Parts: sequence; C-alpha cells; structure tokens
Amino acid sequence: MKASGRITEAPGIGAVAAQDLAALGIATLGDMLRFAPRAYDDRREERRARMAGVDDPSIACRITVIGHSDFPTRNGRTLKVAAVDDDGTRIELLCFNRYFLKSQLSIGSEWYIHGKVQRIRGIYQISSFEVKRTREEIGLGRILPVYPLSGRLSEKMMRSAASYALQALSPIPDELPDGMYRRLGLMRHEEAYRALHFPESMDEAAAALRTLGFTELLMMELSLLRKGARTGRRVRSRPSRRERLLLSSLPFTLTGDQLRAADEIREDLDSGMPMNRLLQGDVGSGKTLVAWLSALHAIDSGAQVAFMAPTELLARQHADGAAALLEGTGVRIAFITGSVKGEQRRLLLESLSNGETDLVIGTHALFSEDVSFRNLRYAIIDEQHRFGVQQREALSHKGEGCSILSMSATPIPRSLALTLYAGYSVSTIRTMPKGRIPIRTYLVREDNRESMYRAVGVEFTRGHQAYFVYPRIDDEGESDLRDVTRMFDFLQKEYPGVPSALIHSRLPDDEKMEILHAFRDRKLSYLVATSVVEVGIDIPDATCMVIEHAERFGLAALHQLRGRVGRSTLPSYCFLVYGRSLTEEAKARLSVMKETNDGFLIAEKDLQIRGPGDISGDRQSGFLHLKFASLTSDLELIELARSEAEKLVREDIGLLKAENAVLRREMARMQESGKRSEG
Ligand code: ADP
Ligand code: MG
Repeated sequence: MKASGRITEAPGIGAVAAQDLAALGIATLGDMLRFAPRAYDDRREERRARMAGVDDPSIACRITVIGHSDFPTRNGRTLKVAAVDDDGTRIELLCFNRYFLKSQLSIGSEWYIHGKVQRIRGIYQISSFEVKRTREEIGLGRILPVYPLSGRLSEKMMRSAASYALQALSPIPDELPDGMYRRLGLMRHEEAYRALHFPESMDEAAAALRTLGFTELLMMELSLLRKGARTGRRVRSRPSRRERLLLSSLPFTLTGDQLRAADEIREDLDSGMPMNRLLQGDVGSGKTLVAWLSALHAIDSGAQVAFMAPTELLARQHADGAAALLEGTGVRIAFITGSVKGEQRRLLLESLSNGETDLVIGTHALFSEDVSFRNLRYAIIDEQHRFGVQQREALSHKGEGCSILSMSATPIPRSLALTLYAGYSVSTIRTMPKGRIPIRTYLVREDNRESMYRAVGVEFTRGHQAYFVYPRIDDEGESDLRDVTRMFDFLQKEYPGVPSALIHSRLPDDEKMEILHAFRDRKLSYLVATSVVEVGIDIPDATCMVIEHAERFGLAALHQLRGRVGRSTLPSYCFLVYGRSLTEEAKARLSVMKETNDGFLIAEKDLQIRGPGDISGDRQSGFLHLKFASLTSDLELIELARSEAEKLVREDIGLLKAENAVLRREMARMQESGKRSEG
C-alpha cells in the first residue's frame, strides 16, 4: 500500500469536511478505508409505497408528478407535491424549506425517489427524501453503506471518500499470512475492504466483517499474549506443610474446581515468575479458602502475604475468618485499616517491615505510603473490580516480583476473559460446594407484597434470618436514609417482637460490626439495610433476601446480593420487589434473575444487555474499541483469533518467520496509529 495520503486528497473533501472527519478519527485515506459503515441500505430491489410497513417504512422507486399545492406552516407556505409510483399509489412529498423544487418537479415529469414514508389517514407522505433523475443516481440495484456522521458530513461525501480511498490505495496488500486465508476461509484484504464499503450482497458484507474482525482480534490477542507470555518453567509442586495442616483441619473436602485452582496458583507461585492470575467463581463457591491455602504456600516459602478487601467490614470479617481457620498453623496475622492509628499502627507497621507478621489483612490502607514490607511476594485482592488498576499495582509494588491473585465473584464473560483479560491467567470455580440448594427467586409487584411478608414471617418462626435491602438513591444518602428508616418502622409493626436492626452506610464502622456480629450470633432476625450488605457477608442462617426497588440495581449487584443467602444447606429465597413502570432493560434483568442462579450465565446476559463498555470498569477501554468485531456477538470469532494467536506465540513469538513478516508489519502499523489517536 502506498504511504497513506491525507484524507483531503479525496475530491470534495476540503478543510471543513476534514475537521468533521477528524472528529470521527479519520485523518488519512487508510483511516477511511478502515472506517466501518454502521449499516447498509439495501436498494437492490425497487420498493414502492405499498411495500412500506412499520418495520421498514423506506421506499426507493420511480414516481410521476401529478400536481402541486401549498399548505400553511409556521415559516410561511410549504410546497406539497403529489405523485404516483408505478403501482399508481399516491405519495405526497412535503417539501419543507424546499420551495425551489416546484419548478424542478414539474407536472408529468418522472423521478426516482428514496426516503421513509409515513401513512397518515390512508395517504403516504414523505418529508425527508432524495429525488434523482436516474436509477443509478438514487442507488437502485445497489447496497449503499451508511456511515456514522459528524458535523456537516453527508453520506454522499463519505461514500465518495471511501470510494476514492479504495481506488487510491489499491492494490491493498494482505494483512495476514498467506496460508491463513485459505485455511480459515477468509477474504483477501483488498477484496474485504471493497466489500466492507460496497458489498454486492449482504452475505458478502458479513464475510468482509468476519475477515476484518478476525484480523483486528488476532492483532489484539497477539499483542496481549506476547506481552504477557510466561517464559517460566511449568513446575509440579506439592502442598506445603501448613497447607496440609489446614486441609486436614477442614470439616469438608475441597471441590474439584477448588483443588484445581489451588494447584494452578501453587504452580505459578513456584515458577519463579510473578503471577498475575484472576480467580473467578460465584459468591460462596469457596474462593477465599483457596486464597488462604495459596497464602500458606507462599508463607511456607518465606514470603509475606497481603490480603486486601474493599471495605473495612469485609476486611475485618476476613481477618476473623483467617484467625479462626489458620489458628493451628502458627501463622502471624495482622489487621490494618485506616482507623488503626497511633501507637498501635506504629507497632503494626514495624512488624510488617521487620517481617514479624506473615499475613496482613486490610483495606486500601495497605498501600498507604507508610506501609512497607520486609518481603512481600504475594498480594491477594478480594472483589478486585472494586479497586483500580493503579491501586492493585501500588500494592504489588511494595514487594519485588510480587505475584497478584485477583478474586472476583462477578464472573467475566468468556469474550472479555479472552480479550481484556488476555494478560491474566484465569482460574475458575464453577461448581458450588456440595449440598447447596439453589436459591428460589420470586418477582413481586410492589402492590403485591403481603404474601411475601407472610412467607418471610414463617422463616422467622423457624429461627431463620432475613435481609431487607434498599438501593442507594443519591450520593448524599439523605433520601435513602428516609426510605430505609420508614420501611424499618413499617417492618417492626409487621413483625412485632422480632428483633431487628437498621444498618446503613452512615453508621460508624464499629456500630456496623456490632450489628453484624449480633446478626451472625442470631440475636437479630433481620437486617434492614442499604446496599452495605452487598459484598462478602457470610451468615449461614440467613435464608431470605428481599430487595426493594430491584429494578434500580444492575444484574451484577442483584446477583451479589442474592448470594448473601443460600450459604448453607437450608432452602433460601430471594424476593425482587419492583415498581410499576419498568424499562425494557429492567424487565430483562429481572427475568434473567428469575431464570438462573448461574453467575456465569448472568454475566453473559449482562454483557448482552449493557454492552461491554460498562462491564469492564477500569480496564483500559482502548482495547474495547473494536472497529469490526463485537465482544457481545462474535465469541466464536474471538475464540478462533485467540487460538490462532496462541499458536503463533508458541511457534514464533518474535514473528521472525518469513510468512509472519506481514503480521509484524501490521502490528507496527497498529501501534503507530494507536499513538496517533492518543496524541
Ligand atoms: P467466596 O469467597 O467464593 O464467596 P467463601 O470462600 O466465602 O466463598 O465460601 C463460602 C462458605 O463456604 C464459607 O463458609 C466456606 O467455609 C464454605 N466452603 C468453602 N469451600 C467449601 C467446600 N468445599 N465444602 C463446603 N463448604 C465450603
Ligand atoms: Mg468472597
């Protein structure tokens, strides 16, 4: 390909248009070549008025003008042209601000028209349309690309720029190794770019998108895999002494998935290369236990370990859990949060820096500047999505070659795991510990609550417990507090004599802890809460989760909240209370919740409903900027690109073989254009 010229080379593209094109990320002819239409307008068949329907109100056909009239509008008089198509159907052309058309569209003259009709009192009307003299000019017989526009750009300008780019840059060289085209049934790129802009059939457009989508995914996977490629040896390693101690003290055996995850982490820790691993598994699947096992393994090899949780509440629960679980192992545990201050903090920091503490559990206070370690080699991050990339890194930078285990109860859809998380190794716990009964979920209309309250009341008589959860409505929390307080009063009347507490984000942490301890010790039967109970709280006798205004929560949050119950062998229930006016999206979310308990399935649905941008949170969204492929619908293509990339990295990581030179060149070009769009 010739050195890509500026877009202003294209006829009809001047300085103004160039600015509008720049807003779309198009500066060169090459950019134009790679600019995908957002849709195609299929004008291969003539469409007369009687074919126009609700799902496709467009027409593209010949008309004959039969009369003119005027009607009054705010800006004076507007021209109305009456015409008939070749079926004899009457169409009225409302020519707003186009009075000049009167002399052009003379009575008896024939034209070709394209636009969308509206049927008003039996008459077809059209107000935004093109008229042309010939079939060719109106695009009949062709498929036209429809581009995203900005500023004063028109589709016509875009089409002519695309057409010029294709011609000026021809011959367009291959972007993939020769053999790959044939083996994977892809189009040559010259052909693919032409078909992207000017396809002869919709199938051809789809085939072009497949080739171009595959190419961009392959480039992305390659760059991620080459960066993250682990050159460390695979080692077989065995559980260390303390791990075995913990395993033998457990009243249950680990699930197969837990064992496998523990093995994978252990092998990484022993490989001599820093690990970057994601441990994903549904709420209650037993990730934390796997984390403790791996911590013991690291400690047995002389390392210090840090375990970080997003809230003080959760950190404290983990610290309590670890203290009980690891009691017999002789591990020295410390707990640090922002509220640990003064002399206590000084002593604690000292024990970290001189290595007297083996395992420290805490909040983001762990990466405060004054915290230093003697030998931090392993950081475990619970609920990783609650931390930013920088925060995770800040912690790991406190130790040399520090390995990171990120835990997530929000499973990542496979397409994202293969792309955004390509630099991570992933361990997955899919099966739940034995004996868990799936939670039954009910959707309850707001004005239908009574039977729900009765059902929860019955659970209380069995000694079981419940949560009533309210959404946080604003950041100030004023109105949440009012709502949640009112509901608390109401429930106390509904369940007279049943002990309960109100817990919300404005309570001081120690008060929250007191309430949660009382709840855990079954001194309280229910909690009324704002979403503070979302993360990690583990109370086995809680069997009911009532979520008010469930439509205001996202799928991931709903799933997390529901995961607070069903944490023992007792049957559990989740009630999702919803208001009268539901958006389509909210309806979709609630029905997903009713249908399934499987966090992996929920994550896939979430991706479909919301699109990938929101889900990835803090991950570099640049990777999400795919031009041709879709993270929501091209999983098969993503998997293909991933396996091809893996093969390439295995066989020729430097891309030094002659046949792979083309990939090296393309990757350099991508990096170049990446830099250009950042700068
Ligand atoms: P997660 O962190 O994945 O949400 P946890 O590690 O908190 O889940 O585990 C939830 C509960 O299940 C804990 O009380 C834990 O002791 C228990 N548990 C973990 N693994 C098993 C197992 N294999 N069999 C039975 N119970 C288990
Ligand atoms: Mg957890």
